[in-house]
Amino acid sequence: MKQITHWINGKSWVGDAPRHGKVFDPATGVQTGVVDFASIAEVDAAVAAATEAFPAWRATSLAKRTNALFALRELLAIHIDEVAAILTSEHGKVRADAAGEVARGLEVVEFACGIAQLLKGEFTENASTGVNVHSLRQPLGVVAGITPFNFPAMVPLWMFPLAIACGNTFVLKPSEKDPSASIFLAELVAEAGFPDGVFNVVQGDKVSVDRILTHPGIAAVSFVGSTAVARHVYETAAHEGKRVQALGGAKNHMVVLADADMGDAAEAAVSAGFGSAGERCMAASVLVAVGGCGDELVERIQARVSRLTVGNGANADSEMGPLVTVEHRDRVASYLGIGEAEGAKIAIDGRDHQVKGAPEGYWLGPCLLDEVTVDMRVYTDEIFGPVLSIIRVDTLDDALDLIERNGYGNGAAIFTNDGAAAQRFETEVAAGMVGINVAIPVPVSYYSFGGWNSSLFGDLHIYGPDGVQFYTRGKAVTSRWQNIRQHHASLAFPNATASEKEKHDSKK
Ligand code: NAD
Repeated sequence: MKQITHWINGKSWVGDAPRHGKVFDPATGVQTGVVDFASIAEVDAAVAAATEAFPAWRATSLAKRTNALFALRELLAIHIDEVAAILTSEHGKVRADAAGEVARGLEVVEFACGIAQLLKGEFTENASTGVNVHSLRQPLGVVAGITPFNFPAMVPLWMFPLAIACGNTFVLKPSEKDPSASIFLAELVAEAGFPDGVFNVVQGDKVSVDRILTHPGIAAVSFVGSTAVARHVYETAAHEGKRVQALGGAKNHMVVLADADMGDAAEAAVSAGFGSAGERCMAASVLVAVGGCGDELVERIQARVSRLTVGNGANADSEMGPLVTVEHRDRVASYLGIGEAEGAKIAIDGRDHQVKGAPEGYWLGPCLLDEVTVDMRVYTDEIFGPVLSIIRVDTLDDALDLIERNGYGNGAAIFTNDGAAAQRFETEVAAGMVGINVAIPVPVSYYSFGGWNSSLFGDLHIYGPDGVQFYTRGKAVTSRWQNIRQHHASLAFPNATASEKEKHDSKK
């Protein structure tokens, strides 16, 4: 059985803390590893390594930093299949989806390769006579990232490439459910030529997270996970004076207008609802059928799901894998009973889904709940599994109102052929990321990713231009080099308007 441990100061660091977690292959239910849980002292060791590495790293030229980022980009591209295999073995997602996850993370490295351009400041010549002003963006110091189970490679890659490109050093605390990818990434970072201590990983649970949130040596925290923990992270770290961005859970609505192509919309709903077994923060979890298109959508989704292959993610023909843990599978499955008791109709029941030869896997087939209403728990709770709810409404106004009143606001999509309706949706919908005939509108890496309301605490979204802002702080410099000595001391602020007034008065 493999032991997954920390990565501190450029090498593997075997934990001496007595606490560990178990790691499973969700497709077989077999335990494959043990992950060390960091003690407070081990988190402190990682922060100490990052603190020591910071002065030299921030002084490293942009040319050298960029070289290392390009090398990391090449290594990730070469090893994409290996990373994908690790993701499938611990998360369960199918191999093609896992490779897609790495590719989306790699995009952020590519964006970070342009750091020299991204960090350019502004310059104003002659703001006052002989006085110039320019602005700088400088790194913060040691920054930390805390990441969820559902994207064990992509979400860390949303954070650390840009953070270190900006000149910071980094401590990552990945999910304890699928921790191996973080160590593989750390090995690639070292191979790419980043100095020891620039990127560190501590494995663990709440103990390590809480130490990160209160550690005086950490300047900023990026978090991605559930809303309850995001709120805790935001409140605690902000109270400690840190800069924080905390991305939380979601309940994403996919609105289908009656004029949409129903075949395309149903395919998109199946892909966005059941891809990665619904364990995506941008998964479509509520299908809003507008103006009487509900029956046709249900029929088409039933037909597509009847041909959908659920199985071990390592098999090329599997379209959907298992859920991440047995506890999570049972929790997600329980929502069918909850929904039925509340009055929803089970249109597809995935609870008895069997996969040949793998009776102990954490399986749950795709599930469709029809006639869901906004007061039901299946609508208000984030289920985070392959359970798609259908709500039927009469008009686009009703759909917009529904989304507005939902507590989350990560993504929202509309399927329609009506440009005016799409434009209105884009303007009025209460969500941070919007898809028009695109079910999962995850922005490309040169935009930024983030939701509204309970889906994000903080001001800045993650990666892209917001990421550069988050991982740097501004400085404005006012300088004079001409006639320095000819100046008379004045105790008043320089005031161009006052001299204009004097001139005006003397002419009278
Ligand atoms: P989670 O909140 O349980 O865990 C996230 C991280 O926080 C993990 O590293 C975990 O070890 C740590 N953690 C868990 N409980 C903690 C506690 N009580 N105190 C301190 N730290 C704690 O989330 P998860 O189950 O790993 O991931 C799924 C959730 O993440 C879903 O809610 C999903 O919507 C959300 N998510 C959001 C986004 C986004 O961009 N908004 C992206 C991916 C996932």
